[in-house]
Amino acid sequence: MPGAFVLTLGCPKNEADSDSFQACLRAAGWELIDDPEDADLLLLNTCAFIQPAVEESMEAIGEALDWKSRKRSRKLVLAGCLPGRFHDDGSGGLSDFDLIIGPADTGGLLDWLGLPPESVPGVYGRRHLRYLKVSEGCSNRCAYCTIPLIRGPRRDRSTGEILRDAAMMVHQGAGEIGLVGQDTGAWSEDGGIHRLVGTLAEEYPDVWFRLYYLHPAHIVPGLAGLMTEHGNVMPYLDVPVQHCSDRILKRMGRGYGRALLEELFTGFDDSVADLAVRTTVIVGYPGETENEFLELMGFLSRHRCIRTVAAFPFWPEEGTTEYFRIRPGELPSPETVQSRLSQVGDAADAHYRDWGERLEDRVLQVMVDSPGTGHTVFDAPLVDGTCFLESDEPEGTVLECRITDYEGPDLTAEVIA
Ligand code: SF4
Repeated sequence: MPGAFVLTLGCPKNEADSDSFQACLRAAGWELIDDPEDADLLLLNTCAFIQPAVEESMEAIGEALDWKSRKRSRKLVLAGCLPGRFHDDGSGGLSDFDLIIGPADTGGLLDWLGLPPESVPGVYGRRHLRYLKVSEGCSNRCAYCTIPLIRGPRRDRSTGEILRDAAMMVHQGAGEIGLVGQDTGAWSEDGGIHRLVGTLAEEYPDVWFRLYYLHPAHIVPGLAGLMTEHGNVMPYLDVPVQHCSDRILKRMGRGYGRALLEELFTGFDDSVADLAVRTTVIVGYPGETENEFLELMGFLSRHRCIRTVAAFPFWPEEGTTEYFRIRPGELPSPETVQSRLSQVGDAADAHYRDWGERLEDRVLQVMVDSPGTGHTVFDAPLVDGTCFLESDEPEGTVLECRITDYEGPDLTAEVIA
């Protein structure tokens, strides 16, 4: 019987799925609330693409089981990458879950709710920050990655579906929409992702659009030009490079080499307007030599477009090509990995300082995220730096602000309009 539900999220990348799950529950008469103690149903949307995420999800499962044990009539739904990656073998205490579904399985949820599949109502969310999925799955099969195993090969959503969801999000009050997919740049319907972003930007001039998860080999020419053409397409690209040594990139199966990365990032450095790039790298890849690591450091230090670098240690994930391929002695020692992570951290700090100096005194648009905080056009909400400002404006409001100070990735600003 419908009542109140709460949805918890293991990973911002899954937020688009959460919006679809919420829409299904609302269609069945459930009401979204914030406090789990008052809820009759809890949907846990989990992440599991690397071991730390698995551990975090297991912790959340423990808390959810405890929540249910305090009132047995409560309903518990486990969704997302964790059940998509590890199928229940009956030994893990998951019998207390009323439903277990994989990532994006709205069909399974609708079936359990007793609704026909055609009643999928699109998306629902209350936040001003929304994530719009352009595709599901990934066909790249990088040697270290579990995502293709969990989510399957890439399936592009149709332009019609994406535009319908965008319209709903705007109607529900979206201030910023992030376009997401495991390989967003590879979306190939109707002329490619830059056409889609151009259409959305024209249709909704008051909404900010931001692109996430662009595989370096799938960045189409003209993408950066969109940002100069449309003030509401953020001058920001999320481009995970993972490494820059040709040998390591080949072993990773990334499908590009150092020359392509240098050309791409030099183009970003030289773009007419400032362009902020967020990137990720993997440190301690099997067989990574000191020289190969230094090559990566040289790349990271050279490109002024880099605003944020996040480094992850390599983790041999069960089921991946690399898991079965590693030979004894190939993994750098934990001390070496720690030292390399901290060197990447130093490079990241240097970029924050450089960007801080460049942004100080500049007037930028800032979107309010909560009382006293927001994010600039150069920073993705929730993952990059926060902009501190004095304002009581509601979330989603865009203010003209002068940047007065910086510390690490965070900025301080005064509101001027
Ligand atoms: S492109 Fe990204 S999601 Fe796809 S296999 Fe490679 S790392 Fe995984």
